[in-house]
Parts: sequence; C-alpha cells; structure tokens
Amino acid sequence: MFVDSHCHLSFPELHGRLPQILAEMHEARVAAALCICTTLEEFPTVQALAAAHPNLWASVGVHPDTEGLAEPSEDELCRLAAQPKVIAIGETGLDYFRLNGRSIADMQWQRDRFRAHIRAARRTGLPLVIHTRSASDDTLAVLKEEGAGTEGSGIGGVFHCFTETMDVARAALDLGFHISFSGIVSFRNAADLREVARFVPLDRCLIETDSPYLAPVPYRGKTNSPAYVPHVATVLAAERGVGVDEIAQATTRNFERLFQVTVPALAAGGAP
Ligand SMILES: [Zn+2]
Ligand SMILES: [Zn+2]
Repeated sequence: MFVDSHCHLSFPELHGRLPQILAEMHEARVAAALCICTTLEEFPTVQALAAAHPNLWASVGVHPDTEGLAEPSEDELCRLAAQPKVIAIGETGLDYFRLNGRSIADMQWQRDRFRAHIRAARRTGLPLVIHTRSASDDTLAVLKEEGAGTEGSGIGGVFHCFTETMDVARAALDLGFHISFSGIVSFRNAADLREVARFVPLDRCLIETDSPYLAPVPYRGKTNSPAYVPHVATVLAAERGVGVDEIAQATTRNFERLFQVTVPALAAGGAP
C-alpha cells in the first residue's frame, strides 16, 4: 500500500468531491494521505478533514507564497499543532520564484516566517514540511542557523516536491531530512531529477502528489489526486531497478517513522 505524503484536499478542486477521492484512493491501494495547510484561514478545513477520516492527517503552516493573509507566530503555530491529527509543521520554507519586482533582500518577511515555523517544529517535536523554490541556498542556511543538523536539535522533516540538484539533496540528507518525490519525476524533461531519485537512500524517500497540481504521467495536465501517487512509485522503482512493492513498503514505513503514526491497513472489499 501507498501513502501520499503531501496533498491539498482542502482546495476546492478536491474538497468538493471528497467521497469520490477517498474511493479512488482505496481502489489504487493508497492507504493514507497528509493534508497540507498553506494559510491559517484554511487550517480549520484541513484539520477537520483529518479529524473526520482515520486515514487522513493534517499539517499546520503558512506557505511562503501566501501574502496578505494572517501571519503566523511561533506560539500560534504551536497552539494549532496541539489539535488532534496534526502531525507536521508546514508547508513552510522560501520561494524566490515570483519576486514580482522585489529583491531577495526584500524577502526578509519570508525568512522570518520560515524561522517561526522552524522554532514551532522544535518546540512541538513535529517534523517540518519544507517548500523551497529558487531559494535552496537560503533555505539550507536558515535551517542551519536555527540549529538543524546539530546533535539533538530536534529539527527534521522532509523537502517536499523535490526539484533541486544532487548537491541540494546531499545537503538536505546531511541535515537529517527526508526527500519527497512528486509526479515531476515522471516528466520527460526531468532526467536530472531521476538521477537524484536513484541516489537518495531508500530509507529517506517519500512519495507525494502535491495534488491538485502536478499530475504524474500519464495524467499530466489533468487535476491530480492522491490516487495517482502509485505512478510516482512506479518511476522510482524503474529508476532504482526494484519492484513497486518495495518502494511502496519503504516509503510507507518512512512516513510512519518520520511522522510517528500508524497507517491503517486497507480494508478488504469496497471503500470504507
Ligand atoms: Zn510546496
Ligand atoms: Zn503543497
């Protein structure tokens, strides 16, 4: 069975047809999914999804691209993280892809927000879900400045939807982080990323959809859903020369160990 370590079931494209999505997950042997929060305004919906379904969990965090909405403090993140089924802090990190005419120096607010998340993760003992785009040097630097990689730092987690270089993968692994691969690894032009997918130790790999975005081949361009995460596992299996079952088992075990949860077994027969 498979686990989708990163999806956005609270987004309207998916939230509006949840029963169908859960049935398709079951059909595709996707036993569980982590619903990722991107704004504080969205958090009650994300948490309610997890609270209502034994095979869904939630994170709490504000995406680096979120602007003009509530700014999270370390205390607020810790308070919300104490709610049932919240197992991660994020998604958080740095994104310099859309600067909209600003300089990197202007993005201090993103770095401050990222630090609040890292400190909340340390205080709560929860793993971080890291988003980094066009900002890997600063993402790694801020993590190190906050103590990641040092003995007993209490900082760990996953670099989600990994699209960075081999060097960034090495640096993230050195800090104790996991690497999560999305449907991008199946795209024709992603040869460099497939090299990273062959390199990351199997006990540090996760798989995800980042749905509703980034549907893997053969669904590229369509609305993505957690039911498609086995297609990511298929690519990892082919690249590494192992069976899909081995990837499924390893990534499920890694998810359970990192997030300290037990994935419920798939019920026999129809959807629960
Ligand atoms: Zn992201
Ligand atoms: Zn995401």
